[in-house]
Amino acid sequence: MIRLEHINGRTYPFIVCDECGERIRDFKMAIVGWDSLNQFHHFHKVTCDRNLPRTVELGTHLIHLLHNVGLNEAEIESLSELMRECWI
Ligand SMILES: [Zn+2]
Repeated sequence: MIRLEHINGRTYPFIVCDECGERIRDFKMAIVGWDSLNQFHHFHKVTCDRNLPRTVELGTHLIHLLHNVGLNEAEIESLSELMRECWI
């Protein structure tokens, strides 16, 4: 799930594991699974993933989302400045 947290007067979205509730800090160690209702669930890989039959790597899922809201490769690269502003 995506959860909002308030840090130093600003609000940030975080992906948290639907099994343990902890923040996912390393996209390479996370997966996204979906159920029969096509609802997504985020998990730490191996430790929390519930062995769901339908999963995709979190990084792949995020790229699909960016593409599906209309960002092309050049626009994704241009987001690096915005990303630097978001580091907390
Ligand atoms: Zn977890």
